[in-house]
Amino acid sequence: MPGRRARHNGLVPAHPPRLDPAIAGRLKRDAAGLFPAVAQQYDTGEVLMVGWMDDEALRRTLTTGRATYWSRSRREYWVKGDTSGNLQLVHSVSLDCDGDTVLVQVDQLGPACHTGSRTCFDGRTLPVTVVDPLRARDARHADVAEPVRGAQL
Ligand SMILES: [Zn+2]
Repeated sequence: MPGRRARHNGLVPAHPPRLDPAIAGRLKRDAAGLFPAVAQQYDTGEVLMVGWMDDEALRRTLTTGRATYWSRSRREYWVKGDTSGNLQLVHSVSLDCDGDTVLVQVDQLGPACHTGSRTCFDGRTLPVTVVDPLRARDARHADVAEPVRGAQL
């Protein structure tokens, strides 16, 4: 652009770092530019929490070793553990088949949930109807296999 020059003072990069375009091109974002990120304990498989990311949060997560999210309520980036000390150290990051959800496998130090529980789902089980998989296989021509135990509705 004529007449426009990038500033080079040796401290601020001329171009801020951006998410690799090859990765950005695979992402599907919502209207706000966000996508959900599921955090999972890498060795036990525990589903720890769900947060939101934009391209920059994903870039930071991929490059800093610390899971970084976008807070929709505070409208700012937050590095998990910065205030609580309950760090999430990144082991791997995967896109799902549609490119609209990210799986972040981490080593979660301390509780993942701000309420103090290990995961955001601990102790928050909802009543469900459970079907015996063997009976479901036998009844494959029926519309619904018979529940072995049902939720109180
Ligand atoms: Zn929580």
